[in-house]
Amino acid sequence: MDRPLRIFYLAAEVVPFAKTGGLADVAGALPKALSALGHDVRVCLPRYGRIGLERFGLRPVLGPFPVPLDEAHREASILERQVADQVPVYFVENAHFFDRDGIYMYPDDAERFIFWCRAALEMLKRLNWRPDIIHCNDWHTAIVPNWLKTIYRAEPFFGSTATVYTIHNLAYQGIFGYRVLEIAGLDEYGFLYHPDLTHLNEVVDFMARGIRFADVINTVSPTYAREILTSDYGERLDPLLRDRQNRLLGILNGIDTEALDPRRDPHIARHFDIEHLEQRAENKRALQEEAGLPVDPRRPLIGAISRLTDQKGFDLLSQVLEAMLSHLGIQFVLLGTGEEHYHEMFSRLAERHPQQFKAFLTFNTPLAQRIYAGTDMFLMPSRFEPCGLGQMIAMRYGSVPIVRRTGGLADTVEDYDSRSGGGSGFVFQAYDGLALHAAVVRAVEIYRHPEIWRGLMRRGMGKDYSWGASAQKYVDLYRQALRLAAEERAAQVAAS
Ligand code: ADP
Repeated sequence: MDRPLRIFYLAAEVVPFAKTGGLADVAGALPKALSALGHDVRVCLPRYGRIGLERFGLRPVLGPFPVPLDEAHREASILERQVADQVPVYFVENAHFFDRDGIYMYPDDAERFIFWCRAALEMLKRLNWRPDIIHCNDWHTAIVPNWLKTIYRAEPFFGSTATVYTIHNLAYQGIFGYRVLEIAGLDEYGFLYHPDLTHLNEVVDFMARGIRFADVINTVSPTYAREILTSDYGERLDPLLRDRQNRLLGILNGIDTEALDPRRDPHIARHFDIEHLEQRAENKRALQEEAGLPVDPRRPLIGAISRLTDQKGFDLLSQVLEAMLSHLGIQFVLLGTGEEHYHEMFSRLAERHPQQFKAFLTFNTPLAQRIYAGTDMFLMPSRFEPCGLGQMIAMRYGSVPIVRRTGGLADTVEDYDSRSGGGSGFVFQAYDGLALHAAVVRAVEIYRHPEIWRGLMRRGMGKDYSWGASAQKYVDLYRQALRLAAEERAAQVAAS
């Protein structure tokens, strides 16, 4: 039997402490699943101002200690949440960097996240907890693999540690000027050089560094892992990703099936399960009321819950939504926040179609769960989608997804097939308003046939979305990273 691993998990947002998107869900759930497999997992994030000490029972574990930053030092303290049977979570505290209203979008973000990561590594030494794996997530943590191959290379403490870097979204790379190399203590190593990526001679791209230096890289679905090797989806880093292709894998995200369970969700009007689909109707009624729409059990009710950006296909939706409302006899409930022009567009649409369209332009997790539980269909027409959690949560709650065939959407939703009677949703290919419209027309047509529709719901609800299988794949990935790191070290010793 392989021995259990010590895994240090770094993520800038973690449910239930701080969340803006899917990364937080993954960071809340995967460590739990790894721990259930018998591994010693510890999570670390910054202590943002919004994370209440009392609410989460945070206790100090390390008093102020100096963290190298730029030419000098800044002080960090460490708090910990320790609850029996739960994964320990460490919080890096520094009021100057983290006691602010939001999580991201500050001019000094590079410095803030460099500081957090550096403090996290220094913390490990002070706690004398030596991880086998440091699991980094997205650009905020991508400097860590770079450090382990440079300034920490000679430190015996990290002498057998390997790094894994997970790309949750390649579009957010963290691109800054040369100055951040000084802040990170990496100026003597300079810019990255790559013959096909000349822009890296002028900027520091955190994402590129994670990809270049981690022992193993993964992304959050098999299809997205293949797509990002192409120039269409590679966000200008595809040449680098192709170089590292033999250490790049796709592992599908799971969802937290305990928190997201229509049999016991405290936020929904009526509990239900695959054997009692008729009870679900109560949730549709409650949602129509909450949204101020006419209560009508037979009218198709479509939902969307998302960041309002072009990535999520809202440019497509904006081309056809008016026509869909006018001609298809549907109701539509949208929950999301994001780009201002979408806020304006959806507000105007709601004014014009108050009987059919409701926009909740806010972030509200309980409401999200009522939408998953109360809609008939769930729309995700994404331009690209690394994994996507919405479609999986929707299926678990019996809302039939309508999605574009890309990334994790392609890996989780099978198109309804009228001949075989199989499939769990409606899938379209072309990134184009007409293709989206046609998929919705198909869905609305099939919705008129309750027996067929119940089959679609049941197949979606019957799938296993839990983290169990994916967590085991991460463990395999960790062992591969350890092997590759050991081989690289042996090769260096042999060469010196
Ligand atoms: P991404 O990480 O790209 O934003 P995902 O589909 O992977 O997209 O994850 C989005 C998660 O955030 C889902 O759990 C979804 O329900 C949730 N979510 C998105 N917008 C909102 C909102 N306005 N209110 C509540 N939950 C939201």
